[in-house]
Amino acid sequence: MLDGSTQAFPELTESQLSRIRAVSKLRKVVPGEILFQPDDTNIPFFVLLSGAMEILQKGLSGEQQITTHGPGHFTGEITMISGQRCLVLGRVTEAGEFLETTNVALRALVARDAELSDILMRAFILRRLLLISHGMGNVVLMGSRHCANTLRVREFLSRNAHPFTYIDLDTDTAAQDFLDRFNVKLTDVPVVVCNGRTVLRNPTTQQLADCLGYGANVDSTLVRDVIIVGAGPSGLAAAVYAASEGLDAVVIETESPGGQAGSSSKIENYLGFPTGVSGQELTNRALTQAQKFGAKMMIGHGVVQLDCSKRPFEIVLDNDHRIPGRAIVISTGAQYNKPKIGNLQDFEGRGVYYGATYIESQLCENQDVVVVGGANSAGQAAVFLSQSARKVHLLVRRNCLAETMSRYLIQRITENPGIDLHKNTEITGLEGDGRLQRVTWVDKSTGEESTHEIGHVFVMTGASPRTDWLQGCVALDNKGFILTGRDLDGRDTAPAAKWPLTRAPQMLETSLPGVFAVGDVRSGNVKRVASAVGEGAIAIHLVHRALAEI
Ligand SMILES: Cc1cc2nc3c(=O)[nH]c(=O)nc-3n(C[C@H](O)[C@H](O)[C@H](O)COP(=O)(O)OP(=O)(O)OC[C@H]3O[C@@H](n4cnc5c(N)ncnc54)[C@H](O)[C@@H]3O)c2cc1C
Repeated sequence: MLDGSTQAFPELTESQLSRIRAVSKLRKVVPGEILFQPDDTNIPFFVLLSGAMEILQKGLSGEQQITTHGPGHFTGEITMISGQRCLVLGRVTEAGEFLETTNVALRALVARDAELSDILMRAFILRRLLLISHGMGNVVLMGSRHCANTLRVREFLSRNAHPFTYIDLDTDTAAQDFLDRFNVKLTDVPVVVCNGRTVLRNPTTQQLADCLGYGANVDSTLVRDVIIVGAGPSGLAAAVYAASEGLDAVVIETESPGGQAGSSSKIENYLGFPTGVSGQELTNRALTQAQKFGAKMMIGHGVVQLDCSKRPFEIVLDNDHRIPGRAIVISTGAQYNKPKIGNLQDFEGRGVYYGATYIESQLCENQDVVVVGGANSAGQAAVFLSQSARKVHLLVRRNCLAETMSRYLIQRITENPGIDLHKNTEITGLEGDGRLQRVTWVDKSTGEESTHEIGHVFVMTGASPRTDWLQGCVALDNKGFILTGRDLDGRDTAPAAKWPLTRAPQMLETSLPGVFAVGDVRSGNVKRVASAVGEGAIAIHLVHRALAEI
């Protein structure tokens, strides 16, 4: 059971209670009454004036008590703000009187009452962290550390800060026997049990997101002021500013919020974080902030088309649903470039990774690893992995790092005995049976080829824009990045670059008035978290102007 005496479970004062009472109704409760349960959405917020209740988790082995609440205590965690499906069950244990506040009234209250906002937000975040650290959630994941899909699902849950219980089939023979009895094949792994009810065999990200109810609170029939496509730093910043300035905003993210930055183990050059911040932490904070202001999130579904033939525009999702929006912010960033190695795909998630987070670092503890790339992301990964790996081999195609990597990182790499820097070097072969076991690389300056018993390769070789879904709606440069503002003067090879209005395009506006592009997807971007965040904020200022024109 969670410790009820921490800041996660504060007792409200009389004055705080009276402010909540003003926006709530009084409800008499009796023992055994269930106030909310897993899968419910937009559940009310309860404050106990008298009586008591328990919070329970429903698992495979029955109910488990998470905590109890008494007078002065309140219910809720992050889903209370996000409107997503509830993770736990709340049952009255002692008769009394509770204040019941709707989800909408609670959001309005925290938006104007700074003191209550601090207390509730802190409690909700701490409760989610406690659920995660105690593995208490509404998801059980049964998988293997040698399985790429298990890694994908674990990353999806972790990057969405979703608490789950992990059962390792490599060490838990009873669990493996259990699955055998149900004829679960190797290709069915991982097995996910959602809400103690739905069993998913090797689910796609979309199936998992639907089962967890991500996006269940988004009404796709409403015309939104602004639709933000992509929840990396630029999209999340746009969401925070849009929602806090009163716009009805929906964010659509195909994988997990955070984008590229979310896969960074430590961002050291973002303003205000002198000791650095992990991409995951920055993302979680931004996500909570956006949801606090009322931005709606749809996670796990990708946008496959922008229907720009009419106004309002329509965003078409991978499940064929359409969401209309008066303005669009494109923040789909970039995706990893892959070196040309014939069988690279065979080892993805089985020894080849495109991000170096805590999860991957655990997989290669005390082993040799290879990091490929000469830019900052590769440098950061090398320094981070050197803390847990036996030896990091940093393979760089060029002869020097100075043009592509920050000086502080170059210094850390050269002074770190745990990192061997191999310049002019490229991977020529990967081998292994089921998972990566050997890596061959060539030193191009000498032509010398060598094979090493290494099972982990981190590919950090830059990224290309994610603009394939735009299909001619907006002008692109010759590398596929979106042209905006002054760049729309026709210098670049851009078929749709013709600007249709008499006024000039705004700074981050694309060739389609009312559609903006921000962050790494934009032609001329500077590949920094700070600039992506700044552009997200500016874009919303410009969206207001565009909406005033309609
Ligand atoms: C490992 C690593 C470390 C880094 N470290 C630093 C650092 O220390 N400092 C720094 O300043 N910068 C750093 N960067 C760069 C920084 O992360 C990027 O510049 C920044 O993330 C760009 O933000 P963005 O929002 O424009 O795009 P992205 O971060 O690329 O996010 C785009 C989002 O859009 C989603 N998306 C794409 N297509 C669709 C679609 N069709 N439908 C719905 N969603 C879609 C993606 O899933 C993704 O979540 C690092 C990058 C990496 C990879």
